[in-house]
Amino acid sequence: MSRLLILFLSIGLIACEQQSDTAAEAPVAASGDATGPKLYVFDCGRIRLASVEAFNLKDTDTDVRDLSAPCYVVDHPNGQLLWDAGLPSELAAAEGWVVRPDGLSNTLDETLASQMDRMGLGFDMGSLEYVAFSHIHWDHVGASNEVTSGTWLVQQGDYDAAHADGNMSVPAVQPELLVSIKERPTQVLAGDHDVFGDGTVQLIAADGHTPGHQVLFVDLAETGPVVLSGDLYHFQFSRANRVVPLFNVDAERSLQSMDKVEALVAMTGADFWLQHDASLFDAQQKAPGFYE
Ligand SMILES: [Zn+2]
Repeated sequence: MSRLLILFLSIGLIACEQQSDTAAEAPVAASGDATGPKLYVFDCGRIRLASVEAFNLKDTDTDVRDLSAPCYVVDHPNGQLLWDAGLPSELAAAEGWVVRPDGLSNTLDETLASQMDRMGLGFDMGSLEYVAFSHIHWDHVGASNEVTSGTWLVQQGDYDAAHADGNMSVPAVQPELLVSIKERPTQVLAGDHDVFGDGTVQLIAADGHTPGHQVLFVDLAETGPVVLSGDLYHFQFSRANRVVPLFNVDAERSLQSMDKVEALVAMTGADFWLQHDASLFDAQQKAPGFYE
């Protein structure tokens, strides 16, 4: 499995210079040990749309209006990676649906930090090894101010955007949600990155939606490989029809990233987890359960 991925990444290095990086060059294949990563899924809120126009769709293209906003933790023998941080934590203090200034409704039952504390999973916001977001949009970094541990793994494009205070060229970014993470130790990435060095957990650069958008590949021993897709797509319709949303920094790069990730999915046979797909999310096992 890992060898296939390494091959894919090596091909990617040649074919896609802009997204290349040293991490893809020499990951060591997992040695068949039974202690592979576990993947936890957390409910980090839900978004309700009045219309799908902003996603470059006609309202008749899909009847989906509710989007899930999960957080995930990959529990690897060498540490935990937090992948995405959902809706803003302050939302949990409000009852039911709250209308945002941009007109979207959103709701959050319980903060990620509270969920971790309540579940006693052996890790919490203060014991993480790494933190990575698919991108810096508000609905993917909402709990980041509660992160008190770990190294932030961020692609150069999103790093630059996060530090461009007062000059936000990227839509849907709320700088106040990025205050603490910018103080964390940070590893700025220039492409694909093998997080634990054994090929089981890989950040795959997939920019376009934002300048540093990425997806996460996790090779699970029993479940098989999965790709956590960030906002590569928001709807199954968008995936089937290669539709790029209107709030997006580079449509051409988005299409290239779709091709890159779909090639990875085809080569590895990975299960594709479209993160905002609420019906998929509802059917998935949630923490304290896990995939392994
Ligand atoms: Zn999103």
